[in-house]
Amino acid sequence: MHAETFDTIIVGGGLSGVYAASLLAGTKGSFLILEARERLGGRILSPEYQGFFCDLGPSWYWPAIHPKMAHLIQALGLEGYPQFDSGCGRFERFNGSVQTVRGYVMEPPSFRLAGGMMALVRRLCERIPERAIHINNPVCRIEKTEEGALVSVGELDREPWAQFRARQLILALPPRLAAATMLFEPELPHDLAQAMLRIGTWMAGQAKFCALYDAPFWRTAGLSGEGFSERGPLGEIHDGSNDAGGPYGLTGFVGIPAVQRSRPDLLLEEILCQLASLYGKEALNPTAFFYRDWARERFTATPYDQPPMVEHPLYHPPAGRTSIWNGTVHFAGTETADEHGGYLEGALAAAERAVYEVCSMEGSDQAKPLI
Ligand SMILES: Cc1cc2nc3c(=O)[nH]c(=O)nc-3n(C[C@H](O)[C@H](O)[C@H](O)COP(=O)(O)OP(=O)(O)OC[C@H]3O[C@@H](n4cnc5c(N)ncnc54)[C@H](O)[C@@H]3O)c2cc1C
Repeated sequence: MHAETFDTIIVGGGLSGVYAASLLAGTKGSFLILEARERLGGRILSPEYQGFFCDLGPSWYWPAIHPKMAHLIQALGLEGYPQFDSGCGRFERFNGSVQTVRGYVMEPPSFRLAGGMMALVRRLCERIPERAIHINNPVCRIEKTEEGALVSVGELDREPWAQFRARQLILALPPRLAAATMLFEPELPHDLAQAMLRIGTWMAGQAKFCALYDAPFWRTAGLSGEGFSERGPLGEIHDGSNDAGGPYGLTGFVGIPAVQRSRPDLLLEEILCQLASLYGKEALNPTAFFYRDWARERFTATPYDQPPMVEHPLYHPPAGRTSIWNGTVHFAGTETADEHGGYLEGALAAAERAVYEVCSMEGSDQAKPLI
């Protein structure tokens, strides 16, 4: 099978991969993104309704503590707006009783992005030639060669659909997913493979919803939209409205474990009933409703990610290695960041590190950070 050769192949077109590509676009080397899904963005997903993009993946960034995100958003000419949090919150106990509670102000303040978080990916893509992005290309095997690596696309244990050669590779996806779904030839050292599997993919076990309405009836009632429940199915709710007028929205996380979310149709009814008991019966009739169960996404979650994560792990490169095979394969993806791992900020940091390493191997210093 003919295999086209590139200087760098980036596996994964989430924020980390797309940002790495936008940095490489400023260098002389050839590169290609191989993305498994039919779209870019990975855990970033912002479906559109009446010109408003609601976030089913990440919706917040924290300019006070995430400087790369803040600077990139500014450099790309995008605008953030503060999370709406004026008014009282609602708290639901195990027994279903609901109380109005003092509003909880997020510290440091969290911001949303106008155009949804996907605006970031769209803007970065403007810097990447269209021909350098191959969607619907799941990488299933990575083989070390004398010149670099041979990358096969397709299903494990089947004839590959396509093959590509690269002098260097950036793995811009969760390490656990890479270890669980790709064959490496030669095999990865045992300690590294175990370390990769042990790194939990942040939010991979979560499901998120967004219910949109013509009017912010909760705000009119003096509520911020923020709600917490011990009972479920929703565990945490926030205002997820368009900053520039409607549509107005309630958004948040389903609090019950992935194994209990097998009937989305029933879950939807339960979610709307719960919203009605927290915010009033107007909540029963959204003009649009979006839902995404990330635990059921094969290009995000593995069976290891199904139990809910209890706390935010301390992320770092797997087994302390930022690259393997004498600098042929470099780890990116937020779960390999030294700081802010799991967050969008970590995805940018890990991408910058990987591109820096790629350029150092090439003896080129031409990749300039956008920020
Ligand atoms: C519900 C939810 C809410 C979140 N909220 C926040 C938030 O408010 N703030 C925040 O900072 N972070 C939040 N996060 C985390 C944030 O989404 C991630 O930090 C970030 O998107 C990770 O980007 P990434 O590029 O490292 O990984 P990913 O986005 O996972 O990208 C990996 C890419 O690799 C692709 N891929 C997988 N397998 C293959 C394969 N075999 N071949 C080729 N491609 C492959 C995937 O399709 C994907 O596009 C949230 C995540 C979720 C799910």
